[in-house]
Amino acid sequence: MDLRFYNSMTRQVEPFTTLAPGKVGMYTCGPTVYNFAHIGNFRAYLFEDLLRRTLEFAGYEVRQVMNLTDVDDKTIRGSRQAGVPLRDYTRPYIAAFFEDLKALNVEPAAVYPAATDHIPEMEALIQALFDRGIAYKSEDGSVYFSVDRFPGYGRLAHLDRSALRSGVRIDADEYDKEGVGDFALWKAWDERDGDVAWDAPWGRGRPGWHLECSAMSMKYLGESFDLHTGGIDNLFPHHENEIAQAEAVTGKPFVRTWMHCAHLRVDGQKMSKSLGNFHTLRDLLAKGWSGREVRYVLLGAQYRQPLNFTFEALAAARTALARVDECVDALTARAAQPGADDGARAPSHLAAFADALADDLNAPEAYAALFAVVRDANKALGAGLPPAGAQAALDELRAMDRVLGFVFFGRAARAEVPADVQALADARAKARAAKDWAESDRLRDALAAKGWQVRDGKDGQTLKPLAQ
Ligand code: AMP
Ligand code: ZN
Repeated sequence: MDLRFYNSMTRQVEPFTTLAPGKVGMYTCGPTVYNFAHIGNFRAYLFEDLLRRTLEFAGYEVRQVMNLTDVDDKTIRGSRQAGVPLRDYTRPYIAAFFEDLKALNVEPAAVYPAATDHIPEMEALIQALFDRGIAYKSEDGSVYFSVDRFPGYGRLAHLDRSALRSGVRIDADEYDKEGVGDFALWKAWDERDGDVAWDAPWGRGRPGWHLECSAMSMKYLGESFDLHTGGIDNLFPHHENEIAQAEAVTGKPFVRTWMHCAHLRVDGQKMSKSLGNFHTLRDLLAKGWSGREVRYVLLGAQYRQPLNFTFEALAAARTALARVDECVDALTARAAQPGADDGARAPSHLAAFADALADDLNAPEAYAALFAVVRDANKALGAGLPPAGAQAALDELRAMDRVLGFVFFGRAARAEVPADVQALADARAKARAAKDWAESDRLRDALAAKGWQVRDGKDGQTLKPLAQ
């Protein structure tokens, strides 16, 4: 499977290659844990999940690292407002984040390093930047990265460097930096920080946001690694700055492939905390939507295309998934029946599925391949697909779902039929064979009284719990 991805660095779709054959080191910028993540954030984490599962589907062994930003202006402000220590403030949001990932069936990363656990690594990086003459200390005690002293700056964002001399916004508390494009590596302590501070050789303060990702990605993946991802708003300045910090110190290329997803929008605008136009996953679950429905919607558009969030899309996801469920149930029932294998099979769409993903994660085409399996399997079931053919179709759906992660298998199997229910069903089958309709109806009612529905099809009867 030859994967081709759009690399934000080269700005083209290109063959995906890795440093070590068959292995991918992958870093994804994680959440700032000052509040609940919204589903816009989860569009980014789900794109990364699809990417990672696609890499695994293609046979790569993936080591994924996702950071937790647990110290910045927002977390500090939140903890001070709540009157609790920083860690006590962020802990429940970290727990909530992991719960949400689970509800969305996101495969866990290998490591979730938190910024506050990596202050020594960040200090070492700053020291190395001082040693190379690239970091400087400002009047107020903050430490900045000098963009002018690092000629490699601007490669990811393809910046015209003159843009850095004009038109860049300067925060009020960054008045004393040398160049407008310079960014903070270390923020000097001030009273708004309360007791959140570390004593570094150059003074008391805390690390800048960009620094944590350079320090932690290199710690867990090495000085050069394969793949770095995030939402498109991370591209500049965050990722540009990550490259600068890392490459200025190591002199080696930091990351081979950069991938960014487009935003989730609401009425044409980016879903964001500041605009107030957001939904958390919790809100949606409380309204009766499920994690798999949200997953289905957020993964359904190609990741570089903007996606507009609507409740109609969630409703359509519910209908679409019900079709998949019904097909899986019917295939599962057929696969469990006795019957000779006459060799009949529904046509396979796995190659089309793999091609779609290999083509820069074309999710709409991958969904189409899944529904082609459903359509053809239903048709084949109607034409008397043998149990082995049903099993083959199930295996194909399972293979696809290793990437998609929203198909439910074993709903029918999970509802294991108790022995007394099975005995009633067997008796009913006998009664029907003997054309004893009165007895057959009596047994149907007896089954219903036990909470089971019996359905008669071409291949005999199937049992389903009534509640479903
Ligand atoms: P933040 O916690 O703001 O740093 O965002 C975490 C991740 O979510 C980053 O990768 C962002 O780029 C991404 N993100 C934020 N808002 C959206 C959105 N509306 N659509 C897609 N990704 C987003
Ligand atoms: Zn980052």
